[in-house]
Amino acid sequence: MKKIIKNKGIVINAMTYQETAAIATLITENGKHTCLIKGAKKLNGSNKRLINIPVLIEYQSTVSDSLSVLTEGVVLDNFTNIKDDIIRYNYASIIIEKLLYFSEQVTDFKTLYNFTIEILKKLSESNYLNSLVLIFEIKLLYLLGVAPSFNYCPICSKTNYIGFLDVKQGGYLCEECSRFNEVTLNKEDSKLFKEIYVTKLNQITDEFLIKFNNHQTINKAINYYYEWHLEFNSKAKKIVEKIG
Ligand SMILES: [Zn+2]
Repeated sequence: MKKIIKNKGIVINAMTYQETAAIATLITENGKHTCLIKGAKKLNGSNKRLINIPVLIEYQSTVSDSLSVLTEGVVLDNFTNIKDDIIRYNYASIIIEKLLYFSEQVTDFKTLYNFTIEILKKLSESNYLNSLVLIFEIKLLYLLGVAPSFNYCPICSKTNYIGFLDVKQGGYLCEECSRFNEVTLNKEDSKLFKEIYVTKLNQITDEFLIKFNNHQTINKAINYYYEWHLEFNSKAKKIVEKIG
C-alpha cells in the first residue's frame, strides 16, 4: 500500500491536467506542495470545491517522488466573502500572485502559512483592503530576507531609530545622510511604514488600518521596493489600481 500523509494547505493555483484533473499548488506549514486532484475540473465533480482559489483545505495524499495524488480532501475555509465580492477577490489576487511567485524563496513556511490565513480572514471582513495588502507586502519582505534595515543608517551605519526610508539603499537613512541623498519617504511616512512592519497581526485595529488605506506614497514605495530589490512588478496590483 502507498504511504498516505495528512496535511492542511492553502490552494493557490490549479492547472488543468488531462482534462478533468488538476495539479494543485498548496502552501502548507512544511513548504510548497504540488498534488494531483482527480476530477477537480469536472463541472459537477465534488473535488471542484478544493480548487476554488483561495481555499484552505485539509487533505490526505500519497507520498511520491514524482507527483503525489490527493485521496481525500475537505474544505476548512472557503473564504466565501472574498469570492462573493469582486473587489475583495481582486485584492486577494495580489496576495496569491506574490505567494506563487515568491514561495521558492521563503524558508519559514510555518509563519508564511499562518500569516496568509490570518490576512485572508481579515480580507474577508475588513473595509480596509488596501491596508491589509500593504501589511502582507511589507511583512513578506522579512520572510524573503530583504526587509529594510530600520535600526541603522545604510550609508553611515549610525544607529538610527527614526529615519527616512530610501528604497534603493534598503533602509532608514539618518537625518544627516537624508540631506545629501534622495529619500523615498518623508519622516512621517517612514515612521508609518515601520509601524506597519512591526505591528503584530493580532494587534491590528480599524483605527490603525484607516491610517494608511490607499496611502499613495506608501503604496508607491512598496511597489518600488519589490521592483528594485526583487525585480517584481505586480500585474494584479495594477488591475486593482486601475479599477479599484
Ligand atoms: Zn547616515
